[in-house]
Amino acid sequence: MPDGDSRDLYAILGVPRSASQEEIKKAYRKLVRKHHPDANPGDSESEARFKSINLAYEILQDPQKRARYDQFGTIGDAPPGGGPFGGGFEPFGDIFGDLFGSVFGGGRREARGPLRGQDLEMTIRISLEEAFRGIGREISIPRLEKCDRCGGSGAEPGTEVKSCPYCGGSGQVEREQRTPFGTFVSVGQCSECGGSGKKIESGCRNCGASGKVRAKHRVDVKIPPGVDTGTRLRVAGEGGEGSDGGPPGDLFLAIKVESHPSFERDRDDLHTRVILKYPQAVLGGSVEVASIEGTEKVEISPGTQGGKAIRIKGKGMPRLKGSGRGDLYAHVVIDVPQSLTERERALMEGLAREMDVEVQSAGLIDRIRQIFS
Ligand SMILES: [Zn+2]
Ligand SMILES: [Zn+2]
Repeated sequence: MPDGDSRDLYAILGVPRSASQEEIKKAYRKLVRKHHPDANPGDSESEARFKSINLAYEILQDPQKRARYDQFGTIGDAPPGGGPFGGGFEPFGDIFGDLFGSVFGGGRREARGPLRGQDLEMTIRISLEEAFRGIGREISIPRLEKCDRCGGSGAEPGTEVKSCPYCGGSGQVEREQRTPFGTFVSVGQCSECGGSGKKIESGCRNCGASGKVRAKHRVDVKIPPGVDTGTRLRVAGEGGEGSDGGPPGDLFLAIKVESHPSFERDRDDLHTRVILKYPQAVLGGSVEVASIEGTEKVEISPGTQGGKAIRIKGKGMPRLKGSGRGDLYAHVVIDVPQSLTERERALMEGLAREMDVEVQSAGLIDRIRQIFS
Protein backbone atom coordinates (compact mmCIF):
# COMPACT_ATOMS: atom_id res chain seq x y z
CA MET A 1 0.00 0.00 0.00
CA PRO A 2 1.79 3.17 -1.09
CA ASP A 3 1.88 6.40 0.82
CA GLY A 4 -1.05 8.58 0.12
CA ASP A 5 -3.36 5.64 -0.27
CA SER A 6 -6.80 6.38 0.99
CA ARG A 7 -8.33 2.94 1.05
CA ASP A 8 -10.75 2.42 3.87
CA LEU A 9 -8.82 0.65 6.59
CA TYR A 10 -11.95 -0.04 8.58
CA ALA A 11 -13.48 -1.76 5.61
CA ILE A 12 -10.34 -3.87 5.14
CA LEU A 13 -10.66 -5.13 8.70
CA GLY A 14 -14.43 -5.34 8.40
CA VAL A 15 -15.13 -3.26 11.49
CA PRO A 16 -17.27 -0.15 11.99
CA ARG A 17 -15.56 3.20 12.41
CA SER A 18 -16.67 3.20 16.01
CA ALA A 19 -14.93 -0.09 16.75
CA SER A 20 -13.02 -0.31 20.01
CA GLN A 21 -9.32 -1.25 20.08
CA GLU A 22 -10.39 -4.66 21.36
CA GLU A 23 -12.78 -5.21 18.44
CA ILE A 24 -10.08 -4.18 15.99
CA LYS A 25 -7.67 -6.66 17.49
CA LYS A 26 -10.25 -9.43 17.37
CA ALA A 27 -11.13 -8.74 13.75
CA TYR A 28 -7.46 -8.62 12.80
CA ARG A 29 -6.70 -11.99 14.38
CA LYS A 30 -9.59 -13.61 12.61
CA LEU A 31 -8.55 -12.21 9.22
CA VAL A 32 -4.91 -13.09 9.65
CA ARG A 33 -5.80 -16.71 10.28
CA LYS A 34 -7.93 -16.77 7.16
CA HIS A 35 -5.60 -14.97 4.78
CA HIS A 36 -2.20 -16.03 6.04
CA PRO A 37 -0.06 -17.07 3.07
CA ASP A 38 0.76 -20.34 4.84
CA ALA A 39 -2.91 -21.18 4.86
CA ASN A 40 -3.29 -20.28 1.19
CA PRO A 41 -0.14 -21.43 -0.57
CA GLY A 42 0.29 -20.03 -4.08
CA ASP A 43 -2.64 -17.64 -3.83
CA SER A 44 -1.13 -14.26 -4.67
CA GLU A 45 -4.41 -12.50 -4.07
CA SER A 46 -4.51 -13.80 -0.57
CA GLU A 47 -0.98 -12.59 -0.05
CA ALA A 48 -1.84 -9.03 -1.12
CA ARG A 49 -4.84 -9.11 1.10
CA PHE A 50 -2.74 -10.29 4.00
CA LYS A 51 -0.43 -7.32 3.50
CA SER A 52 -3.34 -4.89 3.46
CA ILE A 53 -4.75 -6.38 6.64
CA ASN A 54 -1.42 -6.01 8.39
CA LEU A 55 -1.05 -2.42 7.33
CA ALA A 56 -4.61 -1.56 8.34
CA TYR A 57 -4.03 -3.11 11.71
CA GLU A 58 -0.72 -1.34 12.17
CA ILE A 59 -2.47 2.00 11.78
CA LEU A 60 -5.68 1.30 13.63
CA GLN A 61 -4.13 -0.40 16.67
CA ASP A 62 -2.09 2.73 17.36
CA PRO A 63 -4.44 5.37 18.84
CA GLN A 64 -2.29 8.21 17.56
CA LYS A 65 -2.05 6.86 14.01
CA ARG A 66 -5.72 5.97 14.07
CA ALA A 67 -6.72 9.50 15.10
CA ARG A 68 -4.59 10.89 12.34
CA TYR A 69 -6.12 8.52 9.83
CA ASP A 70 -9.60 9.42 11.07
CA GLN A 71 -8.85 13.06 10.54
CA PHE A 72 -7.11 12.94 7.19
CA GLY A 73 -8.31 9.62 5.90
CA THR A 74 -4.90 8.61 4.66
CA ILE A 75 -1.87 6.82 5.88
CA GLY A 76 0.63 9.28 4.55
CA ASP A 77 3.50 9.24 7.02
CA ALA A 78 5.80 10.38 4.29
CA PRO A 79 3.72 11.74 1.46
CA PRO A 80 5.44 13.28 -1.53
CA GLY A 81 6.56 16.74 -0.62
CA GLY A 82 7.98 15.73 2.72
CA GLY A 83 4.87 15.68 4.90
CA PRO A 84 1.49 17.26 5.09
CA PHE A 85 2.85 20.69 5.94
CA GLY A 86 6.33 20.36 4.56
CA GLY A 87 7.58 20.67 1.04
CA GLY A 88 6.22 23.24 -1.29
CA PHE A 89 2.63 23.25 -0.15
CA GLU A 90 1.25 26.45 1.20
CA PRO A 91 -0.23 25.63 4.58
CA PHE A 92 -3.95 26.29 4.76
CA GLY A 93 -3.67 28.16 1.52
CA ASP A 94 -6.78 26.47 0.29
CA ILE A 95 -9.73 24.77 1.86
CA PHE A 96 -8.78 21.55 3.57
CA GLY A 97 -10.37 19.24 1.11
CA ASP A 98 -8.35 20.58 -1.77
CA LEU A 99 -5.10 20.80 0.15
CA PHE A 100 -5.26 17.30 1.51
CA GLY A 101 -6.85 15.99 -1.58
CA SER A 102 -3.83 16.97 -3.59
CA VAL A 103 -1.29 15.97 -0.97
CA PHE A 104 -2.65 12.58 -0.12
CA GLY A 105 -5.19 11.69 -2.70
CA GLY A 106 -2.74 11.00 -5.51
CA GLY A 107 -4.21 10.94 -8.97
CA ARG A 108 -7.67 10.17 -7.76
CA ARG A 109 -8.48 13.76 -6.89
CA GLU A 110 -8.46 14.69 -10.58
CA ALA A 111 -11.31 12.33 -11.31
CA ARG A 112 -13.54 14.67 -9.33
CA GLY A 113 -11.79 17.85 -10.34
CA PRO A 114 -13.29 21.23 -11.11
CA LEU A 115 -16.84 20.98 -12.37
CA ARG A 116 -18.29 23.18 -15.07
CA GLY A 117 -21.48 24.94 -14.03
CA GLN A 118 -24.86 23.93 -15.33
CA ASP A 119 -26.28 25.30 -18.55
CA LEU A 120 -29.45 27.25 -17.95
CA GLU A 121 -32.26 27.92 -20.34
CA MET A 122 -34.78 30.70 -20.17
CA THR A 123 -37.71 31.63 -22.37
CA ILE A 124 -37.78 35.25 -23.48
CA ARG A 125 -41.04 36.68 -24.81
CA ILE A 126 -40.74 39.66 -27.10
CA SER A 127 -43.05 41.56 -29.43
CA LEU A 128 -42.74 41.45 -33.20
CA GLU A 129 -41.51 45.05 -33.14
CA GLU A 130 -38.76 44.06 -30.69
CA ALA A 131 -37.83 41.14 -32.90
CA PHE A 132 -37.66 43.60 -35.80
CA ARG A 133 -35.41 46.14 -34.10
CA GLY A 134 -33.53 43.88 -31.75
CA ILE A 135 -33.40 44.78 -28.07
CA GLY A 136 -31.21 44.82 -25.04
CA ARG A 137 -32.87 43.47 -21.97
CA GLU A 138 -31.90 42.94 -18.39
CA ILE A 139 -33.04 39.57 -17.25
CA SER A 140 -32.78 38.01 -13.86
CA ILE A 141 -32.02 34.35 -13.67
CA PRO A 142 -32.72 32.32 -10.58
CA ARG A 143 -29.64 30.23 -9.97
CA LEU A 144 -27.48 28.79 -7.25
CA GLU A 145 -24.63 31.01 -6.19
CA LYS A 146 -21.85 30.71 -3.70
CA CYS A 147 -23.07 31.44 -0.19
CA ASP A 148 -21.62 34.68 1.17
CA ARG A 149 -21.76 33.61 4.79
CA CYS A 150 -19.50 30.58 4.42
CA GLY A 151 -17.77 31.49 1.17
CA GLY A 152 -19.11 28.32 -0.41
CA SER A 153 -17.53 25.91 2.07
CA GLY A 154 -20.88 25.03 3.64
CA ALA A 155 -19.39 25.31 7.13
CA GLU A 156 -20.58 27.78 9.71
CA PRO A 157 -17.92 30.52 9.96
CA GLY A 158 -15.49 29.75 12.77
CA THR A 159 -15.99 26.00 12.53
CA GLU A 160 -13.67 23.58 10.82
CA VAL A 161 -13.98 21.82 7.53
CA LYS A 162 -12.11 18.56 7.61
CA SER A 163 -11.23 16.12 4.97
CA CYS A 164 -13.85 13.39 4.79
CA PRO A 165 -12.40 10.58 6.89
CA TYR A 166 -14.19 7.91 4.90
CA CYS A 167 -12.68 8.70 1.52
CA GLY A 168 -9.70 10.73 2.65
CA GLY A 169 -10.88 13.84 0.86
CA SER A 170 -10.86 12.28 -2.57
CA GLY A 171 -14.64 12.11 -2.73
CA GLN A 172 -14.32 8.60 -4.06
CA VAL A 173 -14.00 5.20 -2.54
CA GLU A 174 -12.69 1.99 -3.98
CA ARG A 175 -14.72 -1.11 -3.61
CA GLU A 176 -13.05 -4.44 -4.03
CA GLN A 177 -15.11 -7.17 -5.48
CA ARG A 178 -13.87 -10.72 -5.53
CA THR A 179 -15.15 -12.91 -8.30
CA PRO A 180 -14.07 -16.26 -9.76
CA PHE A 181 -12.24 -14.26 -12.45
CA GLY A 182 -10.21 -12.17 -10.08
CA THR A 183 -10.55 -9.16 -7.88
CA PHE A 184 -12.11 -6.09 -9.39
CA VAL A 185 -11.71 -2.67 -7.96
CA SER A 186 -14.46 -0.23 -8.73
CA VAL A 187 -14.33 3.43 -7.86
CA GLY A 188 -17.51 5.13 -6.78
CA GLN A 189 -18.65 8.32 -5.15
CA CYS A 190 -18.14 8.43 -1.41
CA SER A 191 -21.52 8.08 0.26
CA GLU A 192 -20.30 9.70 3.43
CA CYS A 193 -19.57 13.11 1.91
CA GLY A 194 -21.52 12.82 -1.34
CA GLY A 195 -18.31 13.16 -3.32
CA SER A 196 -17.28 16.52 -1.90
CA GLY A 197 -14.40 15.04 0.07
CA LYS A 198 -15.20 17.31 2.98
CA LYS A 199 -16.55 16.78 6.42
CA ILE A 200 -18.40 19.75 7.86
CA GLU A 201 -18.58 19.86 11.63
CA SER A 202 -21.26 22.52 11.81
CA GLY A 203 -23.32 23.45 8.77
CA CYS A 204 -23.64 27.07 7.65
CA ARG A 205 -26.91 28.59 8.87
CA ASN A 206 -27.45 30.55 5.69
CA CYS A 207 -27.17 27.77 3.13
CA GLY A 208 -27.78 24.66 5.19
CA ALA A 209 -24.23 23.36 4.59
CA SER A 210 -24.69 23.20 0.83
CA GLY A 211 -22.40 26.20 0.24
CA LYS A 212 -24.88 27.55 -2.27
CA VAL A 213 -27.87 29.81 -2.06
CA ARG A 214 -30.66 30.63 -4.46
CA ALA A 215 -30.06 34.03 -5.93
CA LYS A 216 -31.27 36.21 -8.76
CA HIS A 217 -28.48 36.75 -11.19
CA ARG A 218 -28.87 39.82 -13.39
CA VAL A 219 -27.59 39.67 -16.93
CA ASP A 220 -27.84 42.20 -19.73
CA VAL A 221 -28.56 40.35 -22.91
CA LYS A 222 -28.67 41.60 -26.48
CA ILE A 223 -31.30 40.13 -28.71
CA PRO A 224 -30.34 40.76 -32.33
CA PRO A 225 -32.82 41.88 -35.01
CA GLY A 226 -34.50 39.05 -36.89
CA VAL A 227 -34.95 36.51 -34.12
CA ASP A 228 -38.01 34.32 -34.36
CA THR A 229 -39.88 31.89 -32.18
CA GLY A 230 -37.57 28.90 -31.86
CA THR A 231 -34.37 30.95 -32.05
CA ARG A 232 -31.97 29.86 -29.32
CA LEU A 233 -29.32 32.35 -28.28
CA ARG A 234 -26.29 31.39 -26.26
CA VAL A 235 -24.91 33.79 -23.69
CA ALA A 236 -21.54 32.34 -22.81
CA GLY A 237 -20.57 32.07 -19.17
CA GLU A 238 -23.84 33.28 -17.69
CA GLY A 239 -25.15 29.87 -16.64
CA GLY A 240 -24.70 28.21 -13.27
CA GLU A 241 -21.49 28.76 -11.33
CA GLY A 242 -18.85 26.10 -11.58
CA SER A 243 -17.62 24.31 -8.50
CA ASP A 244 -14.07 23.80 -7.29
CA GLY A 245 -12.79 26.43 -9.68
CA GLY A 246 -14.62 25.05 -12.70
CA PRO A 247 -15.91 27.44 -15.37
CA PRO A 248 -19.51 28.62 -15.35
CA GLY A 249 -22.08 27.09 -17.67
CA ASP A 250 -23.82 28.94 -20.47
CA LEU A 251 -27.18 30.64 -20.56
CA PHE A 252 -29.50 29.81 -23.42
CA LEU A 253 -32.33 32.13 -24.36
CA ALA A 254 -35.26 30.47 -26.06
CA ILE A 255 -37.02 33.24 -27.99
CA LYS A 256 -40.76 33.41 -28.28
CA VAL A 257 -42.14 36.17 -30.49
CA GLU A 258 -45.68 37.12 -29.56
CA SER A 259 -48.35 37.19 -32.24
CA HIS A 260 -49.22 40.59 -33.70
CA PRO A 261 -52.70 41.95 -34.42
CA SER A 262 -51.73 43.24 -37.91
CA PHE A 263 -48.93 41.03 -39.15
CA GLU A 264 -48.36 37.39 -39.66
CA ARG A 265 -44.84 36.19 -40.00
CA ASP A 266 -43.49 33.53 -42.28
CA ARG A 267 -39.75 33.29 -41.68
CA ASP A 268 -38.44 36.66 -42.88
CA ASP A 269 -41.63 37.68 -44.70
CA LEU A 270 -44.54 39.53 -43.19
CA HIS A 271 -48.14 39.33 -44.31
CA THR A 272 -50.80 41.93 -43.75
CA ARG A 273 -54.14 43.00 -45.24
CA VAL A 274 -54.94 46.04 -47.33
CA ILE A 275 -58.59 47.03 -47.54
CA LEU A 276 -59.68 48.55 -50.84
CA LYS A 277 -62.93 50.34 -51.52
CA TYR A 278 -64.80 48.99 -54.50
CA PRO A 279 -63.88 51.90 -56.83
CA GLN A 280 -60.19 51.65 -55.85
CA ALA A 281 -60.10 47.99 -56.78
CA VAL A 282 -61.91 48.73 -60.01
CA LEU A 283 -60.15 51.89 -61.10
CA GLY A 284 -56.77 51.49 -59.38
CA GLY A 285 -55.04 54.15 -57.29
CA SER A 286 -52.59 54.66 -54.55
CA VAL A 287 -53.09 53.40 -51.00
CA GLU A 288 -51.11 53.30 -47.79
CA VAL A 289 -50.21 49.94 -46.35
CA ALA A 290 -49.15 49.62 -42.72
CA SER A 291 -45.67 48.12 -42.39
CA ILE A 292 -43.79 47.08 -39.24
CA GLU A 293 -41.93 50.41 -39.24
CA GLY A 294 -44.62 52.80 -40.47
CA THR A 295 -46.55 53.01 -43.73
CA GLU A 296 -45.77 52.25 -47.34
CA LYS A 297 -47.40 53.90 -50.34
CA VAL A 298 -48.53 51.27 -52.81
CA GLU A 299 -49.93 51.68 -56.31
CA ILE A 300 -52.99 49.58 -56.98
CA SER A 301 -53.44 48.63 -60.60
CA PRO A 302 -56.92 48.91 -62.12
CA GLY A 303 -58.98 45.76 -61.82
CA THR A 304 -57.26 44.41 -58.69
CA GLN A 305 -59.02 41.29 -57.47
CA GLY A 306 -59.81 40.49 -53.87
CA GLY A 307 -57.27 38.07 -52.38
CA LYS A 308 -54.40 39.29 -54.53
CA ALA A 309 -51.10 39.55 -52.66
CA ILE A 310 -49.15 42.71 -53.40
CA ARG A 311 -45.44 42.20 -52.76
CA ILE A 312 -43.58 45.09 -51.16
CA LYS A 313 -39.96 44.15 -51.52
CA GLY A 314 -37.54 44.41 -48.62
CA LYS A 315 -40.12 45.52 -46.08
CA GLY A 316 -40.26 42.28 -44.11
CA MET A 317 -38.15 41.19 -41.17
CA PRO A 318 -34.38 41.52 -41.04
CA ARG A 319 -32.56 38.28 -41.73
CA LEU A 320 -30.93 36.91 -38.57
CA LYS A 321 -28.42 35.03 -40.68
CA GLY A 322 -27.24 36.97 -43.68
CA SER A 323 -28.11 40.47 -44.67
CA GLY A 324 -31.12 42.32 -46.02
CA ARG A 325 -34.75 41.85 -45.22
CA GLY A 326 -37.64 39.69 -46.24
CA ASP A 327 -40.72 41.06 -48.05
CA LEU A 328 -44.06 42.40 -46.97
CA TYR A 329 -47.13 40.96 -48.63
CA ALA A 330 -50.33 43.01 -48.59
CA HIS A 331 -53.35 40.78 -49.19
CA VAL A 332 -56.19 42.66 -50.85
CA VAL A 333 -59.59 42.66 -49.19
CA ILE A 334 -62.42 44.43 -51.06
CA ASP A 335 -64.53 46.41 -48.68
CA VAL A 336 -68.20 45.85 -49.44
CA PRO A 337 -70.07 48.66 -47.72
CA GLN A 338 -72.76 47.58 -45.30
CA SER A 339 -74.60 50.84 -45.36
CA LEU A 340 -74.85 53.51 -48.06
CA THR A 341 -75.87 57.08 -48.24
CA GLU A 342 -78.89 57.77 -50.37
CA ARG A 343 -76.72 59.20 -53.08
CA GLU A 344 -74.35 56.21 -53.02
CA ARG A 345 -77.34 53.93 -53.31
CA ALA A 346 -78.66 55.89 -56.27
CA LEU A 347 -75.30 55.71 -58.00
CA MET A 348 -75.02 52.01 -57.32
CA GLU A 349 -78.43 51.35 -58.70
CA GLY A 350 -77.49 53.39 -61.77
CA LEU A 351 -74.34 51.32 -62.15
CA ALA A 352 -76.34 48.13 -61.83
CA ARG A 353 -78.67 49.26 -64.61
CA GLU A 354 -75.65 50.19 -66.74
CA MET A 355 -74.09 46.79 -66.18
CA ASP A 356 -77.43 45.15 -66.71
CA VAL A 357 -77.49 43.26 -63.43
CA GLU A 358 -80.60 42.72 -61.45
CA VAL A 359 -80.36 44.13 -57.92
CA GLN A 360 -82.71 44.35 -55.02
CA SER A 361 -84.05 47.88 -54.81
CA ALA A 362 -84.53 49.22 -51.36
CA GLY A 363 -88.08 49.58 -50.13
CA LEU A 364 -89.38 52.74 -48.53
CA ILE A 365 -88.78 51.57 -44.96
CA ASP A 366 -85.22 50.59 -45.85
CA ARG A 367 -84.63 54.00 -47.34
CA ILE A 368 -85.97 55.73 -44.24
CA ARG A 369 -83.75 53.52 -42.08
CA GLN A 370 -80.78 54.46 -44.24
CA ILE A 371 -81.49 58.14 -43.83
CA PHE A 372 -81.79 58.00 -40.03
CA SER A 373 -78.96 55.59 -39.36
ZN1 LIG B 1 -23.21 29.09 3.65
ZN1 LIG C 1 -15.99 11.09 1.59
